[in-house]
Amino acid sequence: MAEQTFPTGTLMAGKRGLIMGVANKNSIAWAIAQQLAAQGAEMAFTYQGDKLLRRVKPLAESVGSDTLVDCDVTNDDQMEAAFKTIEDKWGKIDFLVHAIAFAGKDQLAGSFIEQTTREGFKSALDISAYSFVDAARRASNIMNDGGAMITLTYLGSERVIPNYNVMGVAKAALEASTRYIAADLGPRQIRVNAISAGPIKTLAAAGIGSGRHMFRFNKAASAMQDNTDPMGVAGAALYLLSDLGLSCTGETHHVDGGFHAIGMPQEGPLRESLGE
Ligand code: NAD
Repeated sequence: MAEQTFPTGTLMAGKRGLIMGVANKNSIAWAIAQQLAAQGAEMAFTYQGDKLLRRVKPLAESVGSDTLVDCDVTNDDQMEAAFKTIEDKWGKIDFLVHAIAFAGKDQLAGSFIEQTTREGFKSALDISAYSFVDAARRASNIMNDGGAMITLTYLGSERVIPNYNVMGVAKAALEASTRYIAADLGPRQIRVNAISAGPIKTLAAAGIGSGRHMFRFNKAASAMQDNTDPMGVAGAALYLLSDLGLSCTGETHHVDGGFHAIGMPQEGPLRESLGE
C-alpha cells in the first residue's frame, strides 16, 4: 500500500492487543495496525514462519512493537505458545485482529464442484474460519472485560464470485462463527465483528484466479465506482476495536465502496460497455 498518514489521536490509548496476519506492507492487517498505532495502541504481532519474519519485524518495530511470535494457526503448540507469550508479557489484552485466510491455488480457479477437494475444503475452512474460533477462545481467556475482536471477510460468502470458490464457503463459516463468538462473549462486554472488505491488492488476493478482472469489475460496478481503500478498512477497524464501537457486536460490516448494495449498476462505465 502507498504511504499514507493515518488520523492520530488517543482512541486506543492504554489498549493492548494482538495482530494476526501481517505478511508485508500491503497486508490489510498492517493498515489496521498503523491506524491503531496512530491512536495510541500497543501491539504484539504473530507471523507465519521465518520467511515472513524479515518483512514483519521492521514493520512491527516502526510502530514500537518488540513482540513478534511465530505462529502457524494449524499448529496447536504454536497457538498455545503465542498466547502464553502475550499473557507472560502483558497479563491481559484489550483487542484481537484476525486477518488470516488460505486456500490452495488449485482450489481458487475454475468450477467450484470440479475443483474443490476434501483436503482443500478442510484446509481452507481450518485456516480461514476455525482459526478465528480458536484465536478468539484463547484471546478471551486473557482479555479484559470490555475488549473487542475483529476478523476480515469478503462478499464471496454471500454471493457467488468467480474463482473464489471454497474460500466463499470458508468466509460464510467465518461470518457465522463471528455471530456465535459474539453471543458467547457478549456477557463479558467483549464485542466481536467482521469487516467485509472489497478487493485490495495483497498477497492473498494474488492467489485468486482472474484477480485483475475482479478489481476492474469492482471499480465499474460499485456505488462509489472505485476500488476499496485499505485506509477505509483500517478506519472501520478503529471504530469496531475502540470504545466508539460500543454496543456493536455480531456484525458483518461492509467496506467495499457500496459494491454489496448494488443489484444493477446505474449510468457509468459498466452500462456504457454494454453499448447503452
Ligand atoms: P495477506 O496475504 O497480506 O494476509 C494473509 C495472512 O494470512 C498472511 O499474513 C499469512 O501469513 C496468513 N496466513 C495464511 N495461512 C496461515 C497459517 N496457516 N497460519 C498463520 N497465518 C497464516 O492478505 P490480506 O488480503 O491482507 O488478507 C487478510 C485477510 O483479509 C484475509 O482473511 C483475507 O481473506 C481478507 N480479505 C482480503 C481481501 C482482499 O481483497 N485482499 C478482501 C476481503 C477480505
